[in-house]
Amino acid sequence: MECTILGSGGCTIIPKPLCQCHICVEARKKSIPYSRGGPSAFLHDINLLIDTPAEIAGQLNRSDIHQLDYVILTHLDPDHTEGFRVVEQIALDFRSWEAYPEKQICLLLPEQLKDRIGDIRSQYGPVIDFYQDSSFVKIQTI
Ligand SMILES: [Zn+2]
Repeated sequence: MECTILGSGGCTIIPKPLCQCHICVEARKKSIPYSRGGPSAFLHDINLLIDTPAEIAGQLNRSDIHQLDYVILTHLDPDHTEGFRVVEQIALDFRSWEAYPEKQICLLLPEQLKDRIGDIRSQYGPVIDFYQDSSFVKIQTI
């Protein structure tokens, strides 16, 4: 099974913005792997993305990943979910404001998170409602 670690910085990315410690200075100078984004991994065999940190769009763009079929969120802390909007960025055809049917992503949702996924909200309400109504995401409870 092939796995790519997209981000391994944990809840604190490296370099920390504005920080001038020797670790952050070195990370800015040498870039990856010294610089590290939020936690995320990808399983190539089934096109599964594990977690969506704020940096996920950039992490995917610099990878060799071309298809995303599944997303799973290990838990709903912000450092794992701030980039969940990536499903919209992948699935939405901005020319028609409709979803590409072939780009719909299956959110594998552990039973324990089923009642809490709606806590990820925008000013319009739970983002999962919008993503499901727009066909960007379908949910499969596991
Ligand atoms: Zn630092």
